[in-house]
Amino acid sequence: MDVRDKLYINGAWTEPAGSGTLPVVNSATGEVMGSVPEGTAEDVERAVKAAAAAFPSWAATAPEERAKLLTRVQEELTARTEQIADLIAREVGMPRTLSKLVQAGLPIMTFAITAQQLTELRWEEQIGNSLVVREPAGVVGAITPWNYPLHQIALKVAPALAAGCTVVLKPSEVAPLNAFVLAEVLHEVGLPAGVFNLVTGVGPVVGEALASHPQVDMVSFTGSTRAGKRVMQLAAETVKRVALELGGKSPNVILPDADLQKAVPAGVQDCYLNSGQTCSALTRMIVPRSRLAEVEDLAVKAAESFTPGDPFDATTRLGPLVSEAQRSRVRSYIEQGVAEGAKLLTGGVEAPEGLDRGFFVRPTVFSEVRPDMTIAKEEIFGPVLAILPYDTEEEALAIANDTTYGLAGGVWSADPAHAEAFARRLRTGQVSINGGGFNPAAPFGGYKQSGIGREAGRFGLEEYLEVKALQR
Ligand code: NDP
Repeated sequence: MDVRDKLYINGAWTEPAGSGTLPVVNSATGEVMGSVPEGTAEDVERAVKAAAAAFPSWAATAPEERAKLLTRVQEELTARTEQIADLIAREVGMPRTLSKLVQAGLPIMTFAITAQQLTELRWEEQIGNSLVVREPAGVVGAITPWNYPLHQIALKVAPALAAGCTVVLKPSEVAPLNAFVLAEVLHEVGLPAGVFNLVTGVGPVVGEALASHPQVDMVSFTGSTRAGKRVMQLAAETVKRVALELGGKSPNVILPDADLQKAVPAGVQDCYLNSGQTCSALTRMIVPRSRLAEVEDLAVKAAESFTPGDPFDATTRLGPLVSEAQRSRVRSYIEQGVAEGAKLLTGGVEAPEGLDRGFFVRPTVFSEVRPDMTIAKEEIFGPVLAILPYDTEEEALAIANDTTYGLAGGVWSADPAHAEAFARRLRTGQVSINGGGFNPAAPFGGYKQSGIGREAGRFGLEEYLEVKALQR
């Protein structure tokens, strides 16, 4: 049992104001694996006060000094790779091998990339008679989800600290234990008191207190569009800076000349990463009607190779969903797909064979999905692929862009120039061309209701900077 009973505030592990605790559940077994304090508005108050008091001196440190500290964080996280990979494989359910690569690996990369960006940043520039200087935005409230828990924390904490901001973090109550490991690391590397603070608790209490606190200058949120809108409304009262990384229903357009043998299995794999619990997952495969039968065969074959199982079994490619709530949400989408007349090719609502505990869902593929169906419009966040046929390329583009979201996309064509031209017409923050790999230094974020702002690399760092013009 991993029991955490203190909050990290003002450089020390401190007693929470209340006595409530939140259980943390192992998603593969359904058993309680630990607990964290259920923080309150009073805890947020103490943490924000500490962050505000620490801000002036942290903001005044030299960027090189901050870059050195970030590199130390990277080293200490690297030393804890196995611990983090184990922990998140249990909290979230991602297969252990992938958890090491992604859940432990990406935060390490983010601290390294941010330290590098910090040394390259142009802090000052001359525009006419103005000296334009960049300054840290202030106290940052960071609210993060459970699907890539430490990665999403690192994408906020690393650039915020790099910019010279101080932070109060509220991680997801569903997968909060990894945040305690990061707090230990930040303490160990000697971050000054108050620069980083950790308050666990539930969104409507701790998250809302942060989003509405007058001394929080910026709130950076990752999670559902529903909660993101609430955060933005609350932040409006004090006109905070708001960064939102929200949901997606990303299209993967397979053009008629594409190599289906490559495109379809790669598309299925992308959709199923982390059991489909990925905001940028390519969940709508948009394919030429003339090749639909071929696509269906390949998709079923690919999907059925994702046998659900124990995340700690080295052969497992599909772990459980994170929670009972998430499983029942995903199952109800599968039911809705069937009810609205989509063609269920494989998978379904029944529990996978031999898995009578944990939050497992069968890898599921629907075909003949129409753009007006619920499973084509709403983020499912499970291993559920929707295949939508098109007749012309213009129709494919219209279907791809016919969504309230705009986070990511994919395009496949035998002609790379044609694929790139098509990619430029997608209204999304990222597009993968012919399976182009994830780049942890590239700006990540959404158009439309997928969010505001960008995370990662130089663009992610700039989110945490104010710009001041000095006229001379
Ligand atoms: P939420 O958006 O509720 O959770 C994300 C974070 O926001 C958590 O820390 C949560 O707190 C917090 N939060 C919740 N409500 C508020 C609020 N009113 N004010 C401030 N913070 C709040 O996501 P869920 O966990 O409920 O997941 C639901 C769906 O959201 C998923 O099925 C998926 O579709 C989508 N989602 C998208 C993500 C993405 O990366 N784009 C990530 C996670 C979910 P708490 O700890 O109490 O949950």
